[in-house]
Amino acid sequence: MPLTTQRKHSPRQAMPETAERREEAAELPLHRLGESGLDGQTAYELISSELLLDGQARLNLATFVTTYMPSTAAQLMAETADKNMIDKDEYPQTAEIESRCVNILATMWNSPDHEQATGCSTTGSSEACMLGGLALKWRWRERMQKQGKPTDRPNLVMGINVQVCWEKFCRYWDVEPRQVPMEGDRFHLGAEEAVALCDENTIGVVAILGSTFDGSYEPVKEIADALDRLERERGLYIPIHVDAASGGFVAPVLQPEIEWDFRLDRVQSINASGHKYGLVYPGVGWAVWRTEEALPRDLVFDVNYLGGHMPTFALNFSRPGSEVIAQYYMFTTLGRDGYGRVMQGASDVAQYLASEIAEIGPYRLVSQGKDLPVFAFGLAPEVENYSVFDVSDRLRQRGWLVPAYTFPKNREDLSVLRIVVRAGMTREMADHLLDYLREQTKFLQSLDTPLPDQAKAKRTAFSHN
Ligand SMILES: *Cc1c(COP(=O)(O)O)cnc(C)c1O
Repeated sequence: MPLTTQRKHSPRQAMPETAERREEAAELPLHRLGESGLDGQTAYELISSELLLDGQARLNLATFVTTYMPSTAAQLMAETADKNMIDKDEYPQTAEIESRCVNILATMWNSPDHEQATGCSTTGSSEACMLGGLALKWRWRERMQKQGKPTDRPNLVMGINVQVCWEKFCRYWDVEPRQVPMEGDRFHLGAEEAVALCDENTIGVVAILGSTFDGSYEPVKEIADALDRLERERGLYIPIHVDAASGGFVAPVLQPEIEWDFRLDRVQSINASGHKYGLVYPGVGWAVWRTEEALPRDLVFDVNYLGGHMPTFALNFSRPGSEVIAQYYMFTTLGRDGYGRVMQGASDVAQYLASEIAEIGPYRLVSQGKDLPVFAFGLAPEVENYSVFDVSDRLRQRGWLVPAYTFPKNREDLSVLRIVVRAGMTREMADHLLDYLREQTKFLQSLDTPLPDQAKAKRTAFSHN
């Protein structure tokens, strides 16, 4: 959450036009609790009118997070908002549904029959990544202690394109992040580059299935093969955690032939965001370990469950059950076919957009939307009068949120726009976006002097969600 600093000035809220109790509404202080409350209808109108100032979620092509669910799903969520996920004793059926979801995911991620995958729901991939990282750290420490070696310098190897949650993991749990920079046309982690950073203090390698920078999948199998060689040659055992925040729901239906999951022995754990391509509104993620042993017992706490105990692994305690129930609803109503249709639809729209944008003239594709339904594109080097940031600003004037950002080390020279196609983005919407982009590009191309601020047109502070 953004940290909020207290504001002393407390202006009154504007009066709602239709409110019956205008006077009370006019007295409502914003930054301290009012002496008395408003009636529900007035409060509803005030708050829902204020929220009109938020963006149009369906036009937001910046986020990976779900902005559309069928109305029956929204209804089911509203009906189950009172269930507390942690209270397994009071809500055993919700616990059962969580367990079914974990099983569904373990199967989707090709957990072998002879192994017993173990997992849980979380608030999102960030929490799931923390849990995955903690398990890696604990297991590394056990290995080192057994050999009588020091355990004070753990490190984690990853690409520089990781989502911020991995930097958080490293800072919060005292692990040195070792990041492989980008190089040339390699915009994510490479196998040899990962291995080169590994040593006996490496708790694991994080591979990303669906980089937020360009939507590309990292070569998990190549990384696993390279780590197999490292183990054969130098005796170093280094496990992989796959951050499949987006790809965990996409690859199993669109690219089932890609081996990135529990088919690879070295993959010890996987996370995904239920609220991205899992198609649920924000608040749910998943973490699955390949076996019970991959998850140190030490990290697990018990809660009451029908007079007995149930093991849990979480950073949070209380949390709504509705998110998990909504995930189960989506699994139930779509099935594998349905997920396949939705992802294929998004992928078709993404690839259509990418190919049309490549035709406009000044744009150069960095990716084509062939892995995740996500692609990035920059401007040809000869374009000097405007930048991708100007294009982003112009799209925003029409309500389209298409973020622009600069790539990290060693491709700081590359600035791109990125489009994330999600369920609910239709071909018609894509055509509207293309028409508007063509029109704006034509105008920008017609400039005969640079727009102001081209020197400053480096804005890197974009948080990849
Ligand atoms: C979105 C994302 C995260 C963080 O996920 P949340 O569910 O928003 O917490 C982590 N890793 C990757 C690769 C992501 O795309």
